[in-house]
Amino acid sequence: MIINLESVFNVEGRTADFDYEIDMSGEELDGSFPFVKPVKVKGAVSNSTGIVEINADASYEITLPCTRCARAVTRQMNCEISHTLVRELENEKNDDYIVVENLEYDLDPLVREDILLSIPYVFLCEPDCKGLCPKCGKNLNDGACGCKAETGRGFEALRALLDDEQ
Ligand SMILES: [Zn+2]
Ligand SMILES: [Zn+2]
Repeated sequence: MIINLESVFNVEGRTADFDYEIDMSGEELDGSFPFVKPVKVKGAVSNSTGIVEINADASYEITLPCTRCARAVTRQMNCEISHTLVRELENEKNDDYIVVENLEYDLDPLVREDILLSIPYVFLCEPDCKGLCPKCGKNLNDGACGCKAETGRGFEALRALLDDEQ
């Protein structure tokens, strides 16, 4: 979505609203394409007392494999987009500002980046997902698999080893 920011930068109190959809179906994340439906973006760029800010809300649906059990999960997500836009940087080191080089400003790269950053690194089907059995690969959310738990025995073996050394 391209919006003309000339009047927003030049006139205090000026606001440019936007309400549109972005197709992010081509975005790949760890081998899957999570954005099946278009992403809805709604917000405004506004000039309040000379400071130009973008504030928007993106709502999207993603389908990703659960980090623990790999079962596909579809979830509604929301992402707040909030930045200060400037024509030029007074201090080169300031990363908080987005420099607008062209007043025919394309929102999409900024919106896409914020949305991708808002996807949680650990994405679980349920907060207490039991994951897969490390031995037989069964999804333990569907019930126990019958394999003996390894953790306890491993710890005891380690303790026996330490006892031997004393
Ligand atoms: Zn899971
Ligand atoms: Zn098992």
